[in-house]
Amino acid sequence: GKMSFSFLSRGIASVLGLTQTEIEKFEDISGAISRVHPNDLPQVIMTSVASARKGEPWQCQFRVKNNSDSEGYRWVLGAARPQALENGDMVWYGYLTDISQQKEFESKLDEARRTAEKASQIKSDFLSMISHELRTPLNAISGSVYSLLQENPNTSQKSALNTINFAVENLIIMINDLLDFQKIEAGKLTIEKAPFNLRNLVEQVMKGLSFHARDSKNDLQLHLSEGLDMRVNGDKTRLSQIMNNLITNALKFTHEGNVDVSIKLQDLKSGRAKVYFEVKDTGIGIAPENQTKIFNDFDQVKPTFSTKYGGTGLGLSITRKLLNLMGSTIALESEVGKGSRFFFELDLEVSDQEVQVEKPVTGSTQDFSKLHLLMAEDNDVNALVLGKIIKKWGYTFDRVGDGAQAVEILKDHQYDCILMDIQMPVMDGFEATQEIKKNIDTPVIALTAAAKLEIMEKIEECGFDGFVAKPIDAAELLKKIKEVISEKN
Ligand code: ADP
Repeated sequence: GKMSFSFLSRGIASVLGLTQTEIEKFEDISGAISRVHPNDLPQVIMTSVASARKGEPWQCQFRVKNNSDSEGYRWVLGAARPQALENGDMVWYGYLTDISQQKEFESKLDEARRTAEKASQIKSDFLSMISHELRTPLNAISGSVYSLLQENPNTSQKSALNTINFAVENLIIMINDLLDFQKIEAGKLTIEKAPFNLRNLVEQVMKGLSFHARDSKNDLQLHLSEGLDMRVNGDKTRLSQIMNNLITNALKFTHEGNVDVSIKLQDLKSGRAKVYFEVKDTGIGIAPENQTKIFNDFDQVKPTFSTKYGGTGLGLSITRKLLNLMGSTIALESEVGKGSRFFFELDLEVSDQEVQVEKPVTGSTQDFSKLHLLMAEDNDVNALVLGKIIKKWGYTFDRVGDGAQAVEILKDHQYDCILMDIQMPVMDGFEATQEIKKNIDTPVIALTAAAKLEIMEKIEECGFDGFVAKPIDAAELLKKIKEVISEKN
Protein backbone atom coordinates (compact mmCIF):
# COMPACT_ATOMS: atom_id res chain seq x y z
CA GLY A 1 0.00 0.00 0.00
CA LYS A 2 2.81 2.52 0.34
CA MET A 3 4.61 3.98 -2.63
CA SER A 4 7.73 6.11 -2.70
CA PHE A 5 10.60 7.09 -4.95
CA SER A 6 13.78 5.33 -3.86
CA PHE A 7 15.91 7.20 -6.37
CA LEU A 8 15.39 10.30 -8.53
CA SER A 9 18.00 11.36 -11.04
CA ARG A 10 18.80 15.02 -11.25
CA GLY A 11 17.27 15.40 -14.68
CA ILE A 12 13.84 14.77 -13.21
CA ALA A 13 14.04 18.24 -11.68
CA SER A 14 13.92 19.88 -15.08
CA VAL A 15 11.13 17.67 -16.38
CA LEU A 16 8.95 18.26 -13.34
CA GLY A 17 10.08 21.83 -12.73
CA LEU A 18 11.34 21.02 -9.23
CA THR A 19 13.89 23.03 -7.27
CA GLN A 20 16.80 21.22 -5.66
CA THR A 21 15.16 21.39 -2.21
CA GLU A 22 11.85 20.18 -3.57
CA ILE A 23 13.47 17.18 -5.18
CA GLU A 24 15.06 16.18 -1.88
CA LYS A 25 11.67 16.10 -0.20
CA PHE A 26 9.99 14.43 -3.15
CA GLU A 27 10.28 10.83 -2.04
CA ASP A 28 6.68 10.51 -1.00
CA ILE A 29 4.71 9.60 -4.14
CA SER A 30 1.75 11.80 -3.15
CA GLY A 31 3.93 14.81 -3.94
CA ALA A 32 4.25 13.55 -7.48
CA ILE A 33 0.61 12.61 -7.77
CA SER A 34 -0.55 16.06 -6.73
CA ARG A 35 1.28 17.47 -9.73
CA VAL A 36 -0.51 15.29 -12.30
CA HIS A 37 -3.33 16.90 -14.28
CA PRO A 38 -6.64 15.83 -12.65
CA ASN A 39 -7.99 14.57 -16.00
CA ASP A 40 -4.98 12.31 -16.51
CA LEU A 41 -4.76 11.00 -12.95
CA PRO A 42 -7.19 8.06 -13.35
CA GLN A 43 -5.22 6.91 -16.39
CA VAL A 44 -1.91 7.13 -14.49
CA ILE A 45 -3.26 5.15 -11.56
CA MET A 46 -5.03 2.54 -13.65
CA THR A 47 -1.99 1.83 -15.80
CA SER A 48 0.28 1.60 -12.75
CA VAL A 49 -2.04 -0.82 -10.99
CA ALA A 50 -2.32 -2.94 -14.11
CA SER A 51 1.44 -2.97 -14.46
CA ALA A 52 1.87 -4.06 -10.84
CA ARG A 53 -0.75 -6.81 -11.15
CA LYS A 54 0.56 -8.28 -14.36
CA GLY A 55 4.20 -7.49 -13.79
CA GLU A 56 4.24 -5.86 -17.21
CA PRO A 57 6.05 -2.64 -18.20
CA TRP A 58 4.23 0.57 -17.46
CA GLN A 59 3.77 3.29 -20.03
CA CYS A 60 1.57 6.35 -19.91
CA GLN A 61 1.32 9.82 -21.40
CA PHE A 62 0.05 12.47 -19.02
CA ARG A 63 0.31 16.11 -18.06
CA VAL A 64 2.20 17.40 -15.01
CA LYS A 65 2.43 20.87 -13.56
CA ASN A 66 5.16 23.08 -15.05
CA ASN A 67 6.37 23.95 -11.56
CA SER A 68 4.87 24.28 -8.10
CA ASP A 69 3.48 27.80 -8.54
CA SER A 70 2.25 27.79 -12.11
CA GLU A 71 -1.09 26.75 -13.49
CA GLY A 72 0.51 25.48 -16.70
CA TYR A 73 1.08 21.83 -17.56
CA ARG A 74 3.52 19.99 -19.74
CA TRP A 75 3.11 16.61 -21.41
CA VAL A 76 5.35 13.79 -20.28
CA LEU A 77 5.79 10.20 -21.31
CA GLY A 78 6.37 7.87 -18.39
CA ALA A 79 7.80 4.40 -18.89
CA ALA A 80 8.97 1.87 -16.30
CA ARG A 81 9.71 -1.80 -15.93
CA PRO A 82 8.46 -3.55 -12.79
CA GLN A 83 10.39 -6.11 -10.85
CA ALA A 84 8.97 -8.17 -7.97
CA LEU A 85 11.34 -8.51 -5.00
CA GLU A 86 11.47 -11.55 -2.80
CA ASN A 87 9.94 -9.71 0.14
CA GLY A 88 6.85 -8.97 -1.99
CA ASP A 89 7.75 -5.37 -2.79
CA MET A 90 7.51 -4.13 -6.35
CA VAL A 91 10.21 -1.89 -7.79
CA TRP A 92 9.84 0.11 -10.98
CA TYR A 93 12.85 1.35 -12.90
CA GLY A 94 11.93 4.01 -15.37
CA TYR A 95 12.02 7.51 -16.68
CA LEU A 96 9.90 10.50 -17.67
CA THR A 97 10.39 12.28 -20.98
CA ASP A 98 9.14 15.75 -21.76
CA ILE A 99 6.95 15.32 -24.86
CA SER A 100 5.25 18.74 -24.85
CA GLN A 101 6.70 19.73 -28.21
CA GLN A 102 5.75 16.44 -29.77
CA LYS A 103 2.21 16.80 -28.39
CA GLU A 104 1.91 20.29 -29.71
CA PHE A 105 3.11 19.12 -33.10
CA GLU A 106 0.65 16.23 -32.97
CA SER A 107 -2.27 18.47 -32.21
CA LYS A 108 -1.31 20.88 -34.97
CA LEU A 109 -1.05 17.97 -37.36
CA ASP A 110 -4.40 16.70 -36.23
CA GLU A 111 -5.97 20.06 -36.76
CA ALA A 112 -4.40 20.35 -40.20
CA ARG A 113 -5.71 16.91 -41.09
CA ARG A 114 -9.20 17.80 -39.94
CA THR A 115 -9.15 21.03 -41.92
CA ALA A 116 -7.92 19.20 -45.00
CA GLU A 117 -10.56 16.52 -44.65
CA LYS A 118 -13.25 19.11 -44.26
CA ALA A 119 -12.03 21.03 -47.30
CA SER A 120 -11.97 17.86 -49.33
CA GLN A 121 -15.48 16.96 -48.21
CA ILE A 122 -16.73 20.44 -49.11
CA LYS A 123 -15.09 20.18 -52.52
CA SER A 124 -16.62 16.80 -53.09
CA ASP A 125 -20.10 17.87 -51.97
CA PHE A 126 -19.84 20.98 -54.07
CA LEU A 127 -18.83 19.07 -57.17
CA SER A 128 -21.58 16.58 -56.72
CA MET A 129 -24.23 19.20 -56.09
CA ILE A 130 -23.20 21.55 -58.86
CA SER A 131 -22.98 18.81 -61.45
CA HIS A 132 -26.42 17.54 -60.60
CA GLU A 133 -27.85 21.04 -60.59
CA LEU A 134 -26.33 21.75 -63.99
CA ARG A 135 -28.15 18.86 -65.53
CA THR A 136 -31.58 20.42 -65.16
CA PRO A 137 -30.92 23.55 -67.24
CA LEU A 138 -28.93 21.47 -69.70
CA ASN A 139 -31.87 19.19 -70.02
CA ALA A 140 -34.04 22.19 -70.82
CA ILE A 141 -31.56 23.52 -73.40
CA SER A 142 -31.02 20.26 -75.23
CA GLY A 143 -34.73 19.46 -75.21
CA SER A 144 -35.63 22.89 -76.56
CA VAL A 145 -32.98 22.70 -79.25
CA TYR A 146 -34.31 19.30 -80.23
CA SER A 147 -37.83 20.61 -80.63
CA LEU A 148 -36.65 23.73 -82.51
CA LEU A 149 -34.73 21.52 -84.92
CA GLN A 150 -38.00 19.72 -85.66
CA GLU A 151 -39.68 22.99 -86.67
CA ASN A 152 -37.91 23.32 -90.03
CA PRO A 153 -35.41 26.03 -89.13
CA ASN A 154 -33.70 27.86 -92.01
CA THR A 155 -30.03 27.20 -92.79
CA SER A 156 -28.54 29.84 -90.51
CA GLN A 157 -30.86 28.96 -87.66
CA LYS A 158 -29.99 25.34 -88.14
CA SER A 159 -26.29 26.06 -87.96
CA ALA A 160 -26.75 28.08 -84.76
CA LEU A 161 -28.84 25.29 -83.25
CA ASN A 162 -26.16 22.77 -84.15
CA THR A 163 -23.56 24.94 -82.46
CA ILE A 164 -25.70 25.03 -79.33
CA ASN A 165 -26.09 21.28 -79.52
CA PHE A 166 -22.34 20.82 -79.82
CA ALA A 167 -21.72 23.06 -76.81
CA VAL A 168 -24.38 21.27 -74.77
CA GLU A 169 -22.88 17.90 -75.62
CA ASN A 170 -19.48 19.15 -74.45
CA LEU A 171 -21.00 20.41 -71.24
CA ILE A 172 -22.67 17.09 -70.65
CA ILE A 173 -19.32 15.32 -71.13
CA MET A 174 -17.69 17.67 -68.62
CA ILE A 175 -20.44 17.18 -66.08
CA ASN A 176 -20.20 13.43 -66.46
CA ASP A 177 -16.44 13.74 -65.94
CA LEU A 178 -16.98 15.74 -62.78
CA LEU A 179 -19.50 13.23 -61.48
CA ASP A 180 -17.18 10.32 -62.25
CA PHE A 181 -14.28 12.10 -60.63
CA GLN A 182 -16.32 12.79 -57.54
CA LYS A 183 -17.53 9.21 -57.38
CA ILE A 184 -14.02 7.80 -57.66
CA GLU A 185 -12.85 10.22 -54.96
CA ALA A 186 -15.61 9.09 -52.66
CA GLY A 187 -14.78 5.45 -53.40
CA LYS A 188 -18.27 4.94 -54.78
CA LEU A 189 -17.34 3.85 -58.26
CA THR A 190 -17.38 0.12 -58.85
CA ILE A 191 -16.24 -1.77 -61.90
CA GLU A 192 -18.89 -4.02 -63.36
CA LYS A 193 -18.27 -7.56 -64.48
CA ALA A 194 -20.53 -8.62 -67.30
CA PRO A 195 -19.85 -10.51 -70.52
CA PHE A 196 -19.27 -8.58 -73.73
CA ASN A 197 -17.60 -9.16 -77.07
CA LEU A 198 -14.24 -7.40 -77.08
CA ARG A 199 -13.96 -6.90 -80.82
CA ASN A 200 -17.51 -5.59 -81.17
CA LEU A 201 -16.94 -3.11 -78.39
CA VAL A 202 -13.73 -1.75 -79.90
CA GLU A 203 -15.35 -1.46 -83.32
CA GLN A 204 -18.31 0.35 -81.78
CA VAL A 205 -16.02 2.88 -80.10
CA MET A 206 -14.18 3.46 -83.37
CA LYS A 207 -17.42 3.92 -85.28
CA GLY A 208 -18.56 6.48 -82.74
CA LEU A 209 -15.40 8.49 -83.31
CA SER A 210 -15.14 8.29 -87.09
CA PHE A 211 -17.04 11.53 -87.58
CA HIS A 212 -14.80 13.24 -85.08
CA ALA A 213 -11.74 11.94 -86.95
CA ARG A 214 -12.98 13.29 -90.28
CA ASP A 215 -13.75 16.59 -88.58
CA SER A 216 -10.23 16.89 -87.20
CA LYS A 217 -8.72 15.86 -90.57
CA ASN A 218 -6.93 12.91 -89.03
CA ASP A 219 -6.60 9.41 -90.36
CA LEU A 220 -7.99 7.15 -87.63
CA GLN A 221 -7.06 3.47 -88.06
CA LEU A 222 -7.83 0.36 -86.05
CA HIS A 223 -5.38 -2.54 -85.90
CA LEU A 224 -6.81 -5.68 -84.35
CA SER A 225 -4.82 -8.82 -83.73
CA GLU A 226 -6.26 -12.30 -84.28
CA GLY A 227 -8.42 -13.88 -81.63
CA LEU A 228 -10.14 -10.81 -80.23
CA ASP A 229 -13.54 -11.93 -81.38
CA MET A 230 -14.27 -13.37 -77.95
CA ARG A 231 -16.43 -12.78 -74.94
CA VAL A 232 -14.79 -11.47 -71.80
CA ASN A 233 -16.13 -10.41 -68.43
CA GLY A 234 -15.61 -6.78 -67.64
CA ASP A 235 -16.99 -3.29 -67.60
CA LYS A 236 -17.66 -2.39 -71.19
CA THR A 237 -18.98 1.09 -70.38
CA ARG A 238 -15.82 2.02 -68.53
CA LEU A 239 -13.55 0.40 -71.08
CA SER A 240 -15.17 2.37 -73.88
CA GLN A 241 -14.90 5.49 -71.73
CA ILE A 242 -11.15 4.90 -71.37
CA MET A 243 -10.70 4.32 -75.10
CA ASN A 244 -12.87 7.29 -75.94
CA ASN A 245 -10.81 9.52 -73.68
CA LEU A 246 -7.51 8.44 -75.19
CA ILE A 247 -8.65 8.54 -78.80
CA THR A 248 -10.46 11.87 -78.39
CA ASN A 249 -7.29 13.36 -76.90
CA ALA A 250 -5.18 11.94 -79.73
CA LEU A 251 -7.53 13.47 -82.30
CA LYS A 252 -7.68 16.73 -80.39
CA PHE A 253 -3.91 17.20 -80.21
CA THR A 254 -3.11 15.97 -83.75
CA HIS A 255 -3.73 17.92 -86.91
CA GLU A 256 -3.81 16.29 -90.31
CA GLY A 257 -1.91 13.33 -88.96
CA ASN A 258 -2.48 9.74 -87.95
CA VAL A 259 -4.11 8.18 -84.97
CA ASP A 260 -3.56 4.44 -84.71
CA VAL A 261 -5.46 2.28 -82.27
CA SER A 262 -3.97 -1.17 -81.75
CA ILE A 263 -5.45 -3.99 -79.73
CA LYS A 264 -3.43 -7.17 -79.35
CA LEU A 265 -4.17 -10.45 -77.71
CA GLN A 266 -0.93 -11.09 -75.83
CA ASP A 267 -1.77 -14.26 -74.03
CA LEU A 268 -4.69 -16.61 -73.59
CA LYS A 269 -4.54 -19.32 -70.97
CA SER A 270 -6.49 -20.84 -68.10
CA GLY A 271 -9.55 -18.80 -68.83
CA ARG A 272 -7.82 -15.44 -68.88
CA ALA A 273 -6.86 -13.13 -71.71
CA LYS A 274 -4.07 -10.57 -71.59
CA VAL A 275 -4.99 -7.79 -73.96
CA TYR A 276 -2.76 -4.89 -74.96
CA PHE A 277 -4.35 -1.55 -75.87
CA GLU A 278 -2.51 1.29 -77.55
CA VAL A 279 -3.46 4.73 -78.90
CA LYS A 280 -0.69 6.33 -80.93
CA ASP A 281 -0.77 9.72 -82.59
CA THR A 282 1.51 11.92 -84.70
CA GLY A 283 0.44 15.07 -82.86
CA ILE A 284 2.05 17.82 -80.84
CA GLY A 285 3.52 15.45 -78.22
CA ILE A 286 4.07 16.02 -74.51
CA ALA A 287 7.29 17.36 -72.97
CA PRO A 288 9.02 15.01 -70.46
CA GLU A 289 8.36 17.38 -67.53
CA ASN A 290 4.61 17.19 -68.23
CA GLN A 291 4.32 13.47 -68.75
CA THR A 292 3.42 12.69 -65.15
CA LYS A 293 1.54 15.89 -64.52
CA ILE A 294 -1.13 15.32 -67.14
CA PHE A 295 -2.45 12.31 -65.21
CA ASN A 296 -3.22 14.52 -62.22
CA ASP A 297 -6.65 15.93 -61.45
CA PHE A 298 -7.54 19.04 -63.45
CA ASP A 299 -4.03 19.25 -64.92
CA GLN A 300 -3.44 20.38 -68.45
CA VAL A 301 -0.10 21.15 -70.04
CA LYS A 302 -1.16 24.73 -70.53
CA PRO A 303 -4.32 25.98 -68.87
CA THR A 304 -4.79 28.25 -71.88
CA PHE A 305 -5.08 25.13 -73.96
CA SER A 306 -8.55 24.59 -72.65
CA THR A 307 -9.81 27.63 -74.54
CA LYS A 308 -8.39 26.25 -77.77
CA TYR A 309 -8.99 22.55 -77.27
CA GLY A 310 -11.70 22.42 -74.64
CA GLY A 311 -11.63 19.93 -71.81
CA THR A 312 -11.45 19.92 -68.04
CA GLY A 313 -8.09 18.25 -67.48
CA LEU A 314 -9.95 15.40 -65.83
CA GLY A 315 -10.02 12.90 -68.68
CA LEU A 316 -6.61 11.35 -68.14
CA SER A 317 -6.90 11.40 -64.38
CA ILE A 318 -10.18 9.50 -64.62
CA THR A 319 -8.65 7.15 -67.21
CA ARG A 320 -5.74 6.41 -64.89
CA LYS A 321 -8.02 5.80 -61.90
CA LEU A 322 -10.45 3.62 -63.86
CA LEU A 323 -7.55 1.50 -65.10
CA ASN A 324 -6.25 1.21 -61.55
CA LEU A 325 -9.65 -0.05 -60.47
CA MET A 326 -9.36 -2.63 -63.26
CA GLY A 327 -5.95 -3.66 -61.96
CA SER A 328 -3.96 -2.00 -64.71
CA THR A 329 -1.69 1.02 -65.19
CA ILE A 330 -1.55 3.47 -68.03
CA ALA A 331 1.81 4.25 -69.58
CA LEU A 332 2.96 6.99 -71.91
CA GLU A 333 5.79 7.55 -74.35
CA SER A 334 5.92 10.87 -76.09
CA GLU A 335 8.17 13.30 -77.91
CA VAL A 336 7.34 16.93 -78.52
CA GLY A 337 6.52 17.53 -82.16
CA LYS A 338 6.54 13.82 -83.00
CA GLY A 339 3.56 12.39 -81.18
CA SER A 340 2.39 10.34 -78.23
CA ARG A 341 1.68 6.73 -77.44
CA PHE A 342 -0.62 5.82 -74.54
CA PHE A 343 -0.80 2.12 -73.70
CA PHE A 344 -1.98 -0.35 -71.08
CA GLU A 345 -2.65 -4.03 -70.63
CA LEU A 346 -5.78 -5.65 -69.25
CA ASP A 347 -6.04 -9.07 -67.71
CA LEU A 348 -9.57 -10.15 -68.56
CA GLU A 349 -11.57 -13.19 -67.59
CA VAL A 350 -12.84 -15.08 -70.62
CA SER A 351 -16.59 -15.50 -70.34
CA ASP A 352 -18.35 -18.79 -70.77
CA GLN A 353 -21.78 -17.24 -70.64
CA GLU A 354 -23.81 -16.48 -73.72
CA VAL A 355 -23.82 -12.78 -74.50
CA GLN A 356 -27.33 -11.50 -74.31
CA VAL A 357 -28.44 -10.45 -77.73
CA GLU A 358 -30.14 -7.11 -77.54
CA LYS A 359 -33.78 -7.46 -78.44
CA PRO A 360 -34.47 -5.63 -81.66
CA VAL A 361 -37.08 -2.98 -81.22
CA THR A 362 -39.41 -3.18 -84.13
CA GLY A 363 -42.83 -1.76 -84.46
CA SER A 364 -43.91 -4.44 -86.89
CA THR A 365 -46.54 -6.06 -84.70
CA GLN A 366 -47.17 -3.03 -82.59
CA ASP A 367 -48.82 0.23 -83.49
CA PHE A 368 -46.84 3.06 -81.99
CA SER A 369 -48.44 5.83 -84.02
CA LYS A 370 -50.70 6.89 -81.18
CA LEU A 371 -49.83 6.64 -77.51
CA HIS A 372 -51.23 8.26 -74.42
CA LEU A 373 -48.63 8.92 -71.73
CA LEU A 374 -48.60 10.05 -68.13
CA MET A 375 -45.81 12.41 -67.12
CA ALA A 376 -45.00 12.82 -63.42
CA GLU A 377 -42.57 15.73 -63.22
CA ASP A 378 -42.47 18.53 -60.66
CA ASN A 379 -40.16 20.89 -62.56
CA ASP A 380 -42.12 23.13 -64.95
CA VAL A 381 -39.27 23.70 -67.38
CA ASN A 382 -38.56 20.00 -67.64
CA ALA A 383 -42.24 19.29 -68.07
CA LEU A 384 -42.51 21.90 -70.81
CA VAL A 385 -39.59 20.47 -72.73
CA LEU A 386 -40.69 16.89 -72.30
CA GLY A 387 -44.22 17.88 -73.33
CA LYS A 388 -42.91 19.44 -76.54
CA ILE A 389 -40.97 16.31 -77.34
CA ILE A 390 -44.00 14.10 -76.73
CA LYS A 391 -46.19 16.28 -78.94
CA LYS A 392 -43.59 16.10 -81.71
CA TRP A 393 -43.99 12.34 -81.67
CA GLY A 394 -47.70 12.90 -82.18
CA TYR A 395 -48.57 11.46 -78.78
CA THR A 396 -50.86 12.82 -76.09
CA PHE A 397 -50.15 13.07 -72.39
CA ASP A 398 -51.34 14.18 -68.97
CA ARG A 399 -49.00 15.78 -66.50
CA VAL A 400 -49.00 15.49 -62.72
CA GLY A 401 -46.62 17.28 -60.36
CA ASP A 402 -45.78 14.55 -57.86
CA GLY A 403 -45.97 10.84 -57.14
CA ALA A 404 -49.13 10.99 -55.05
CA GLN A 405 -51.02 12.69 -57.89
CA ALA A 406 -49.76 10.02 -60.26
CA VAL A 407 -51.13 7.26 -58.02
CA GLU A 408 -54.42 9.16 -57.78
CA ILE A 409 -54.96 9.82 -61.49
CA LEU A 410 -54.24 6.18 -62.34
CA LYS A 411 -57.30 5.12 -60.37
CA ASP A 412 -59.59 6.24 -63.19
CA HIS A 413 -57.34 6.91 -66.19
CA GLN A 414 -55.44 4.59 -68.49
CA TYR A 415 -52.08 5.19 -70.12
CA ASP A 416 -49.78 3.29 -72.43
CA CYS A 417 -46.71 4.27 -70.46
CA ILE A 418 -45.75 6.36 -67.42
CA LEU A 419 -42.73 8.66 -67.41
CA MET A 420 -41.73 9.07 -63.79
CA ASP A 421 -39.32 11.64 -62.41
CA ILE A 422 -37.52 10.30 -59.33
CA GLN A 423 -37.07 13.34 -57.14
CA MET A 424 -40.48 14.87 -56.51
CA PRO A 425 -42.17 16.46 -53.53
CA VAL A 426 -44.93 14.73 -51.48
CA MET A 427 -44.21 11.27 -52.88
CA ASP A 428 -41.05 10.48 -54.86
CA GLY A 429 -40.87 8.32 -57.96
CA PHE A 430 -39.68 5.22 -56.11
CA GLU A 431 -42.57 5.16 -53.71
CA ALA A 432 -45.13 6.09 -56.36
CA THR A 433 -43.99 3.30 -58.67
CA GLN A 434 -44.12 0.71 -55.89
CA GLU A 435 -47.63 1.89 -55.11
CA ILE A 436 -48.72 1.84 -58.78
CA LYS A 437 -47.31 -1.61 -59.45
CA LYS A 438 -49.44 -3.06 -56.66
CA ASN A 439 -52.54 -2.52 -58.81
CA ILE A 440 -51.67 -2.17 -62.47
CA ASP A 441 -49.05 -3.32 -64.93
CA THR A 442 -48.62 -0.18 -67.03
CA PRO A 443 -44.92 0.22 -67.90
CA VAL A 444 -43.10 2.88 -65.89
CA ILE A 445 -39.88 4.54 -67.06
CA ALA A 446 -37.68 6.33 -64.52
CA LEU A 447 -36.31 9.72 -65.52
CA THR A 448 -33.49 10.92 -63.37
CA ALA A 449 -30.46 13.14 -63.36
CA ALA A 450 -28.76 11.07 -60.68
CA ALA A 451 -25.79 9.05 -61.81
CA LYS A 452 -26.85 5.69 -63.15
CA LEU A 453 -24.93 3.27 -60.98
CA GLU A 454 -26.06 4.69 -57.69
CA ILE A 455 -29.77 4.36 -58.20
CA MET A 456 -29.88 1.51 -60.72
CA GLU A 457 -30.45 -1.04 -57.97
CA LYS A 458 -33.19 0.92 -56.31
CA ILE A 459 -34.92 1.43 -59.65
CA GLU A 460 -34.97 -2.30 -60.22
CA GLU A 461 -36.24 -2.98 -56.71
CA CYS A 462 -39.15 -0.59 -57.06
CA GLY A 463 -40.48 -2.28 -60.19
CA PHE A 464 -39.59 0.25 -62.88
CA ASP A 465 -39.57 -1.18 -66.40
CA GLY A 466 -36.81 1.06 -67.68
CA PHE A 467 -34.56 3.98 -67.09
CA VAL A 468 -33.60 7.08 -69.08
CA ALA A 469 -30.99 9.53 -67.83
CA LYS A 470 -31.51 13.26 -67.84
CA PRO A 471 -30.81 15.38 -69.78
CA ILE A 472 -33.32 13.43 -71.83
CA ASP A 473 -32.18 12.28 -75.21
CA ALA A 474 -35.43 12.32 -77.19
CA ALA A 475 -34.48 9.43 -79.45
CA GLU A 476 -33.35 7.30 -76.52
CA LEU A 477 -36.57 7.97 -74.64
CA LEU A 478 -38.74 7.08 -77.62
CA LYS A 479 -36.79 3.86 -78.12
CA LYS A 480 -37.23 3.02 -74.44
CA ILE A 481 -40.96 3.72 -74.50
CA LYS A 482 -41.44 1.40 -77.48
CA GLU A 483 -39.25 -1.21 -75.85
CA VAL A 484 -41.12 -1.35 -72.55
CA ILE A 485 -44.51 -1.37 -74.25
CA SER A 486 -43.47 -4.22 -76.57
CA GLU A 487 -42.18 -6.18 -73.62
CA LYS A 488 -45.46 -5.82 -71.77
CA ASN A 489 -47.45 -7.06 -74.76
P1 ADP B 1 -8.43 17.50 -71.17
O1 ADP B 1 -8.22 16.80 -72.46
O2 ADP B 1 -9.86 17.57 -70.73
O3 ADP B 1 -7.71 18.80 -71.06
P2 ADP B 1 -6.97 15.26 -70.10
O4 ADP B 1 -6.75 14.83 -68.70
O5 ADP B 1 -7.61 14.30 -71.02
O6 ADP B 1 -7.78 16.60 -70.02
O7 ADP B 1 -5.58 15.69 -70.70
C1 ADP B 1 -4.73 16.51 -69.93
C2 ADP B 1 -3.73 17.20 -70.83
O8 ADP B 1 -2.78 16.28 -71.36
C3 ADP B 1 -4.33 17.87 -72.04
O9 ADP B 1 -4.86 19.13 -71.74
C4 ADP B 1 -3.11 17.95 -72.96
O10 ADP B 1 -2.30 19.05 -72.60
C5 ADP B 1 -2.34 16.70 -72.62
N1 ADP B 1 -2.60 15.59 -73.58
C6 ADP B 1 -3.44 14.55 -73.41
N2 ADP B 1 -3.41 13.70 -74.46
C7 ADP B 1 -2.55 14.23 -75.35
C8 ADP B 1 -2.07 13.83 -76.66
N3 ADP B 1 -2.51 12.69 -77.26
N4 ADP B 1 -1.16 14.62 -77.27
C9 ADP B 1 -0.73 15.75 -76.67
N5 ADP B 1 -1.14 16.19 -75.46
C10 ADP B 1 -2.03 15.44 -74.79
